[in-house]
Amino acid sequence: MPAELLDGIAVARAIRDEVAVAVAAQKARGVVPGLAVVLVGEDPASTVYVRNKGRACEEAGMHSVTIRLPDTASQAELLAVVDQLNADPAIHGMLVQMPLPKQCNADEVIRRIDPAKDVDGFHPINAGKLLIGEKDGFAPCTPAGVIELLKRYDVPTSGADVVIVGRSNIVGKPMASLLMQPGVDATVTICHSRTRELPTHTRRADILIAAIGRPKFVTADMVKPGATVIDVGINRVDEPRAKNGYVLAGDVDFAPVSAVAGKITPVPGGVGPLTIAMLLKSTLVAASRVRVA
Ligand code: NDP
Repeated sequence: MPAELLDGIAVARAIRDEVAVAVAAQKARGVVPGLAVVLVGEDPASTVYVRNKGRACEEAGMHSVTIRLPDTASQAELLAVVDQLNADPAIHGMLVQMPLPKQCNADEVIRRIDPAKDVDGFHPINAGKLLIGEKDGFAPCTPAGVIELLKRYDVPTSGADVVIVGRSNIVGKPMASLLMQPGVDATVTICHSRTRELPTHTRRADILIAAIGRPKFVTADMVKPGATVIDVGINRVDEPRAKNGYVLAGDVDFAPVSAVAGKITPVPGGVGPLTIAMLLKSTLVAASRVRVA
């Protein structure tokens, strides 16, 4: 029997609808949740992401601002925009779209964002709060979306063996932090490019999370029968017959793996839509922390 599909589009829709209801409640107390996105340059993928974020905000009834800087913008100009947004009371959440042009230093930019407005959860203060289990920070949106997906499909995590392939600061590490927290209670293994005998780890997983950035890397022989497989990967693969000249592929070899797995996320339509939904949710949370006189 093929694996059950975990429908990220439907879960994201449900989250966005819940956020829209809560936004109306915030407005009733005089706070309009506001998200600012800063885009430096014209990277085509980033431009699409930023446009989608703006649209999703507006659809949820939020205030949305997009600030575009040319790809020649200096670090000082970018930091000045961050300072301005930090001071703007109409903005509760902000993010600077990555990657940045090479004259800009992403680490310095992330550290300049007020942690209370860092809805991407990349500031070291928020990374630390996540690790030690303090609830007043922000978790990065993609791993937070994976947790929502697991919860809403009743995938048991308590005591489950979860193997994450990938140790980036935006996916793998925060994913591990979220999964090991009390209440989620997974037993977590993180693998990376120096891991020996990778399949011996992945085959133990009740839940296998792939965040590698290599199309179809996870093959059927790497998956325990009945496991839940979460594919975070979004890779562009050249396809001359496709309209744009490429198709999107995950890190999991979908068809053969879905013959072995119990549950699986598709790409597209799995984890991807959850990222924006969780960004809206974090912005709402940021706004709800604002005290009104
Ligand atoms: P990174 O490139 O930052 O990290 C990739 C990780 O995979 C690294 O830890 C790397 O190990 C590991 N890796 C690479 N090759 C191997 C290998 N042969 N064996 C084992 N591990 C390996 O990627 P990201 O975490 O930023 O993104 C991962 C994927 O998720 C990408 O496809 C990206 O597009 C997608 N993504 C999707 C999002 C969404 O909204 N759904 C959001 C963010 C990312 P090492 O550290 O040793 O180099």
